[in-house]
Amino acid sequence: MYVIGNWKLNGSAVLIDSLAPALNEAAQACPDVTVVACPPDVWLTALTAALGRDRLVSTGGQNCHHETAGAYTGETSALQLAEIGCSYAILGHSERRQHFGETSAQVAAKAATASAAGLQPVVCIGESLEQRSAGRQFEVCREQLQASLDGLAGGWLRNAIIAYEPIWAIGTGEVASVSDVADMSEVLRACLVDTFGKDGNAVSILYGGSVNDKNAMDIFNSGGVQGALVGGASLKPSAIGAIIGAAQACAKQSNR
Ligand code: PEP
Repeated sequence: MYVIGNWKLNGSAVLIDSLAPALNEAAQACPDVTVVACPPDVWLTALTAALGRDRLVSTGGQNCHHETAGAYTGETSALQLAEIGCSYAILGHSERRQHFGETSAQVAAKAATASAAGLQPVVCIGESLEQRSAGRQFEVCREQLQASLDGLAGGWLRNAIIAYEPIWAIGTGEVASVSDVADMSEVLRACLVDTFGKDGNAVSILYGGSVNDKNAMDIFNSGGVQGALVGGASLKPSAIGAIIGAAQACAKQSNR
């Protein structure tokens, strides 16, 4: 099971001081959970130092460029993330698709570069409320999944993680129902296997969207997901600790 924290544009020395010990403690108590923290790039080194030399918590970027170096002012490359100790990169988050115009083709290129640099890409997909109201959520997510993973078809696919994040559930407090999560993860798994053959079974599927310490257990028990991508609650030491604990309880029950 994975619990991946997306700090978004939040982070400070004070936040790191309060979160690093809580993450270390939760990761120590929950050996079946892969705990990942993704602060803004500028805080990655400080967070890694605060987690300590023998850290059980991995780190990741919230984005990377599809080129490894060059004249791309303001960007961070996958190689640079790897060099400072990151193991993951969140790619194609709906906020990046929405505010920065990122397309699935660009996400696919980033996922390939990230994989080549040794990072595990956490590729986000999800439908808008309008698309769900029109009954198009499965079609939209299938399309995004295939197009966003296109660059991994050659062999890196097994390393990839898909985060199903319905846009209407991100930061809104409105969490998808257990049956919404179960139905979508079944559709995504079938799409992965149809598109990539048996390698599609190796891809982990996470849910993201207003996961908190109260609803995490229900989400994890929904059946088809192997963890969560957590935004707001990942900034609160006790909430993220409880979510990691719920993932551990679920992993123990089901060997996920
Ligand atoms: C996210 O940003 O990926 C996310 C899921 O946010 P939140 O948990 O705050 O809805």
